Amino acid sequence: MRRQRSAKIVATLGPASSSPAMIAALFAAGVDVFRLNFSHGERDEHRARLSAIRALEKEVDRPIAIMADLQGPKLRLGLFAKGKIAIKPGQNFRLDLAATPGDQKRAPLPHPEIFAVLDPGTEILLDDGRVRLRVETHGKDFAETRVVAGTELSDRKGVNLPGVVLPLSALTAKDRSDLAFALGLGVDWIALSFVQGPDDVAEAKKLVTGRAGVLVKLEKPAAMTRLQEIVDLADAVMVARGDLGVEIPPEDVPPLQKEIVHVCRRAGKPVVVATQMLESMVHAPVPTRAETSDVATAIYEGADAVMLSAETAAGEYPIEAVTMMDRIIRRVQADRFYDAGLHAESGMALEHTSPDAISAAARQVADTVGAAAIVSYTSTGATALRAARERPAVPTLALTARLETARRLALVWGLHCVHTADVHRFGDMIQKATRIALREGFAEKGQRIVITAGIPFGTPGATNVLHIAWV
Ligand code: PGA
Ligand code: MN
Repeated sequence: MRRQRSAKIVATLGPASSSPAMIAALFAAGVDVFRLNFSHGERDEHRARLSAIRALEKEVDRPIAIMADLQGPKLRLGLFAKGKIAIKPGQNFRLDLAATPGDQKRAPLPHPEIFAVLDPGTEILLDDGRVRLRVETHGKDFAETRVVAGTELSDRKGVNLPGVVLPLSALTAKDRSDLAFALGLGVDWIALSFVQGPDDVAEAKKLVTGRAGVLVKLEKPAAMTRLQEIVDLADAVMVARGDLGVEIPPEDVPPLQKEIVHVCRRAGKPVVVATQMLESMVHAPVPTRAETSDVATAIYEGADAVMLSAETAAGEYPIEAVTMMDRIIRRVQADRFYDAGLHAESGMALEHTSPDAISAAARQVADTVGAAAIVSYTSTGATALRAARERPAVPTLALTARLETARRLALVWGLHCVHTADVHRFGDMIQKATRIALREGFAEKGQRIVITAGIPFGTPGATNVLHIAWV
C-alpha cells in the first residue's frame, strides 16, 4: 500500500468517525495521522479510537501516527441544557461561574481568571469569533454582556479575549493528566495548545522525555515574537489558524502561515497547516473553490501536512473530505510549477553535517540518474527528516527498526515509512532496500534507487553512505 503523494493528511477523530469501520475507511481514503482531540470526548473514547487505529495498523501493515492534542489553557464555555441555543445581536447574555447548564439567557463560563480581568466594553469572542459579546457590567463571578454579532452558541465553544493577557501556564492540570494518559496509551505525537514561548515547549519536552514527538501549535500572537526559538525546540509545528485567526486580524494569518512554513522548512521541522481547510464539507459533499485553493496553497508552500478538524470529527462527509484533500494534494503535486515553487525559497542552507551532505547529495543523485526512489535507513528518524527537508522529486522510503520512529515519521512530507529489522552488512543493506522498494510499489525491476545509510550500521546519526543500486 502506497500513497500517491508527498504531503500528508491529518484527520481529527470524533463522534462522526469513531467506529473501527469508519477509521479504516478514513485511512483507506488517505489519512496518515489521526488526531485525538483532548478538548472533546472522554478517555474511554480516546482509548477505543487508539485501539481501533492500532488494530488497523496491524491489519494493513502500515505505520500510522496518532497525535494527542492537549486542550491547553483554552477557554471554553460550559454546557447548555439543550446542547445549543439561538441568539441574536442586541440581546443580553450572561456568563457566570454557576455550574447549571446554560439556556437562552445565560451560559456557564468556568474560568474565574476571565472575570478577574474584564472591564466594561471588553469584547469576548466565542466559537472562533463567530459570536461577539461586549461586557456591560461584571463581578468576580459573572458578566452581563450584549450580543454584538452571532446567531447560535453550543456546548464548550471556545472563548478568546484578544489583547487581554491571562495569567495561565501552557499546561493545565487537565493537560498534565491527559498527557500522562496519552503517553500511557502510546501516542506518537503530543500537540501543545496555546504555546506562548519557548519555556512552554521546554517544560513539555521535560515531561514527555522522548516518549512522543512534541508538536507546538502556534495560535497565540505572543509566540510569533519568539518563533525561531520555539521551532528550534519543537519536534513539529502546527499553524493553528483557528485560534490564531481569532486573536489576530484575518488578513495577518496568510503571511504568518507563509513565515511559519518557511521557518519550519528551513529548520527541517515538520509543519502542519490546520483549521477550516475544507470547513464547508462539514455539511456539504463538495468544498468551496476558496477552500480548495487554500489546501492547494499550503501544498504549494511545501507544508508537510494539512489537517481536517470538524470535517472528519463531526461532519456529515468525513470520507469525502479526506478524499477531496487527497485529490487536491495529488493535483498540485502533478503541476509543473509545484517542484520549482518548492525550491524557490532562499535561506535553506545545509548544516555542516554528514546527514545533510548525504541527504542533499541523494536528492541530486536521484535526479541525475533518474532514480525511482530514495531509500533512507534511519534509527531515530533524524536522518529521514533531513532527507525530507530536501523535498526531493522522488519518494523517500524511510526504513527503520524502531516502530515508534516509523509511526512518528508518518507526519513528514515525502516519507513512506517501513518498520523492518536492522541490517548488519552492506550486501544486506542493498538487498533489503531494493526488495522493499519493489514490494511497496516504489520501483520496478531495472530501475535504480538511491540508498543512504550509516556505517557502522545501527549507529544513530552516523549517516555517511550513499549508494546507487539497481532493482
Ligand atoms: P484546535 O486547534 O482545533 O484545537 O482549536 C487548531 C486551531 O486553533 O487552529
Ligand atoms: Mn486552537
